[in-house]
Amino acid sequence: MTSERPSTLAQLRSAVSAGLVRRRAVRDEIRENLIGRLRAKQPIFPGIIGYDETVVPQIVNAVLSRHNFILLGLRGQAKSRILRALAELLDEAIPVVPGCEIHDDPLAPLCSACRARVRTEADALPVAWLGREARYVEKLATPDVTIADMIGDLDPIKAARAGLQLSDELTMHYGLLPRANRGIFAINELPDLAGKIQVGLFNILQEGDVQIKGYPVRLPLDLLLVFSANPEDYTARGKIITPLKDRIGSEIRTHYPATRQHAMSITSQEAWVSRPGATGSGVQIPEFVREVVEEVAFQARQDSKIDKRSGVSQRLPISLLENVVSNAERRALVANESAVVPRVTDVYAALPAITGKFELEYEGELRGADNVARDIIRGAVGNVFAGYFATADLRQVTEWFDLGGTLQVDDGIDAGELLTRTAQVQGLRDLTAHAGVGAKPSAPLLAAAVDFILEGLYAQKKITRSDEFQYQGAEPPPRRPVRTAAPAEPTPEHDLPMPGTKKKYYN
Ligand SMILES: [Zn+2]
Repeated sequence: MTSERPSTLAQLRSAVSAGLVRRRAVRDEIRENLIGRLRAKQPIFPGIIGYDETVVPQIVNAVLSRHNFILLGLRGQAKSRILRALAELLDEAIPVVPGCEIHDDPLAPLCSACRARVRTEADALPVAWLGREARYVEKLATPDVTIADMIGDLDPIKAARAGLQLSDELTMHYGLLPRANRGIFAINELPDLAGKIQVGLFNILQEGDVQIKGYPVRLPLDLLLVFSANPEDYTARGKIITPLKDRIGSEIRTHYPATRQHAMSITSQEAWVSRPGATGSGVQIPEFVREVVEEVAFQARQDSKIDKRSGVSQRLPISLLENVVSNAERRALVANESAVVPRVTDVYAALPAITGKFELEYEGELRGADNVARDIIRGAVGNVFAGYFATADLRQVTEWFDLGGTLQVDDGIDAGELLTRTAQVQGLRDLTAHAGVGAKPSAPLLAAAVDFILEGLYAQKKITRSDEFQYQGAEPPPRRPVRTAAPAEPTPEHDLPMPGTKKKYYN
C-alpha cells in the first residue's frame, strides 16, 4: 500500500471510491482497528503489565464506546504510557493537505487556506501522508495554560505580513487542540487546568467544534480526547467543573502492581541493568535482591510515614534496581571481580534512588527521609527473608553471634574477602542453600547469599548490626520470668502441666 499511496487529490478520490483508502472519524478508526486486534487475539497494549484483568478491559470498553476518557491514578502507574500506546491503534498514515496546520482532509478541508487551494489546484492538489506518531499530541496541564495555547488566537504579525484584515481567517493562530485535529489529544493532570480552559474543553466535548476568539468560523474538529489525573485532585470539589466531568465518557482507575511478580516484571522491563562493558560474565542479579527492591516499593506504599495521596511510583524500584546494580558494578570494578552481583546491602547504599520518590507525612519528617528509607528497606528484607527461610533452622548461626561472635563486612568488600571473613560462622554457609543460588554458585553469588542471610537475621532482629555493618548478637532480652511447658524447666509441683495441655499466662 505504501508505494501506491495516492499523491494527488484526483488519485485520492478514486482510491476512496474504490475502497482502497478509508475515510472515517478518529474514534471510529481507533475502534475498528481495536476490533481487528481483538479478533486476531493480538495484545492490545504490549509492554503494559498487570492490567490485563483490570484496566485494559475498561479501556477497550471505552474505545468500543467511542468515549473520550480519563485515567485516574497515582504517579508511576503507567498512565502516560497507556495514553501514548493508543496511537498504535491509529492507521499507519492518513491523507492530508500538505502544510496544513490542522491536518485537513483533502476531500473536506476545514481551513480557508486549504479550501482556497482546492478551488485553484483542483484535482492536481498534492496529497501528503501523515504518520500515526504525528497524530498524538500530549500536554501537561499547568495553571498558566491559556485559551490561546489550547485553542488559538489571532496572530497580528501574520496579518501584518500578509496585509490582511485581522478578521480574516488566514490570520488565525491555531492552538494545540486544532493542531491535534484528526488525532489523539492527551491532557495530563487535568485538574491543574484553569477553570476557563476547562470550560473551553467542555465546549469541544459538547459541540464537537471550537471557535477561535474573534473569528466567525467554527472548526468541527475530529479528535479523541483523553486525560489523566490524580484521583484525589479529580474528585476534590471545585477542581473540575461538573459539566466537563459529565462529558467524559469513561473514568478508569489505574493501580500499582497487585503482586510482587507483576512488579518485578515491570521493573525488569524498564530498569537499565545490562551494563555494556561490565566485567567478565556481566550482571547477575540474584532473585532475592530483585524481590527486596520490589518489596521496598510495596512497603513504602503501606508506610504510615509516607503520604498516600501522592503515592510511591513504580519508578522507585526501577531507579533503585539501577542504583543497586551500580553499587555492585563499582565494587566489582574496584576489586576486579569477574561478575557484577548485587547484594542486599547494596540496597542500603542506594538510598539516593529512594528518598526523592516519596513525600513524607509529619511523622516521617521527624524521623528523616534517610531513616524512613532504611526502616523500609529493613522491613522489606525481613519480609523477603521470611519467604526464603521459612523452613530453615537459623539457631546455629544466631548462637554463634549470641556467644559473642562479631563480624565486620560491608558492601565495599569483595566476594573473596566476604567469604573468608564469614567462614568462621558455623552453619552460615550451609544456609545459603535456601537462598536459591543453585548448587555451585560463583563466589560473588555465594557472597550475596551470605550477605542476604546476615541482613535477614538483622531485619528479623535475631542479630544486631551497627550502621557501619558490624554484626553481633541480639541485645539480651529484658529480664522477666519466662516459663514454658518445656520439661527441662523446673516448675513448682502444683503447677505441673497436664499432658496435652499448654500452660497459659495472662499478663
Ligand atoms: Zn487546512
